[in-house]
Amino acid sequence: MGDLRERHIKRICIFCGSSLGVKKEYAHSAIELGRILAQKKIALVYGGGRVGIMGQLAKACLEAGGEVIGVIPKQLYKMGLGYTKLTRLHLVNSMHERKAMMSDLSDGFIALPGGLGTIEEFFEALTWAQLGIHRKPCGLLNTAGYYDKLMEFIGNAVKQEFLEKEHKDMILVSEKPIDLMAKFRAYRAPKASKVIWVLEKTGNLV
Ligand code: AMP
Repeated sequence: MGDLRERHIKRICIFCGSSLGVKKEYAHSAIELGRILAQKKIALVYGGGRVGIMGQLAKACLEAGGEVIGVIPKQLYKMGLGYTKLTRLHLVNSMHERKAMMSDLSDGFIALPGGLGTIEEFFEALTWAQLGIHRKPCGLLNTAGYYDKLMEFIGNAVKQEFLEKEHKDMILVSEKPIDLMAKFRAYRAPKASKVIWVLEKTGNLV
């Protein structure tokens, strides 16, 4: 019975590009997701920037009546990159502090198309999930197949036995924001953490 219960998500942390990317679909799907969050009364937690996909997402969510919480390092804010009209904007001392606060505030993590910052932030959240530090869902919004090659790489990591299939399957992937939200609600965290898996599989402890 417990397995059928849907996860209640109040706030979602979204990592995404500070650039707009080449395809117009990237911004369009960010706008669509921003509106869905507002409609569903799920607060958006994000990096607090006003540029690129980040800015588009936050603006769409705010305009649709949503709650938007930004977390930005003081240094980036001083450079004029912060979005000043958010519901709340937390100024922090470092990128590490920013990620920790974004994580504490959120019930799940989504990466939209983005560059190194987006990928780094998403994989940190995913690594914490793999270690059992949190049990929150992590997903990729695969707009226009942007993350297909990354998922191919992850599939190869499983084949090469650097990654357990159960942990690969933690990555929820959808092309459409609404489908990704449905996967988030149904998500169940894996039972075994990476630590247990490594101890069971590797006989060669030194
Ligand atoms: P990237 O994918 O390399 O564009 O980096 C985007 C991610 O890094 C976002 O999720 C932010 O947390 C952070 N970031 C990068 N650039 C900015 C910026 N100009 N303003 C605020 N955050 C940024």
